[in-house]
Amino acid sequence: MASDKKTDVIAIDGPSGTGKSTTAKMVAKELGWTYLDTGAMYRAVAYLVESGELRIENGEYSQLNMAFDNNNQILINGVNRESEIREPKISAVVSKYSAMPNIRETLTAQQREIGSKQPCVLDGRDIGTVVFPNAKHKFFLTADYKTRAARRLLELQNAGKADGETLESVEKNLRERDEADSKRNIAPLIRAKDAIEIDTSHLTIQQQVQRVLQSVGEVARCNSLNTTPRLQCPI
Ligand code: C5P
Repeated sequence: MASDKKTDVIAIDGPSGTGKSTTAKMVAKELGWTYLDTGAMYRAVAYLVESGELRIENGEYSQLNMAFDNNNQILINGVNRESEIREPKISAVVSKYSAMPNIRETLTAQQREIGSKQPCVLDGRDIGTVVFPNAKHKFFLTADYKTRAARRLLELQNAGKADGETLESVEKNLRERDEADSKRNIAPLIRAKDAIEIDTSHLTIQQQVQRVLQSVGEVARCNSLNTTPRLQCPI
């Protein structure tokens, strides 16, 4: 029987460029919780297959040695591959791999294991719907395409990866990934019914973080008063 017990998890879902990762990282730091970037795990698989280091046959692939260092950078077989997984060429193909059932099954199991061991903030596409449907706190971040593309392009420029990229090419990739991620059969990108939606188009990162922390604190306060979790809770 499914348990109603809520897990000490903050799920931050939404499409790319809405500020999920930065918000999740800062919220985790503020609370002293662990942060897990689930998108990086899908990117790692895509990177390994594309670079010929991993073969997928009939949907099956061998075990991966994946970990995060203290700066939340991904280590694959002990090597820091943070830069490689963020390349536009990986962004262009990652949705193909993240739609594969075996890959989702393996990574979802790993995410659940990490998130059940310690209080955790996870960002992704299916955290509040599939990975931790019993998460204590769920958020769904959105923003308009122009804002998202501008943020992504700036990120690529800052990382020295913007060669040949324009606002248009970045927006095209965002639209294509949104389409693939929302229409796939397994764990599509969709807002959990009980997730709080935050449109970040006109918010600074600090404001986003504040909104999340405020909701988390308020739900906690209401729970301790044994009242309805807030947002519907009288002030
Ligand atoms: O968050 P990020 O843009 O790095 O995610 C890269 C890709 O990984 C997404 O476009 C999506 O295809 C996949 N993903 C997913 N489920 C998650 C996190 C990411 O399918 N929980």
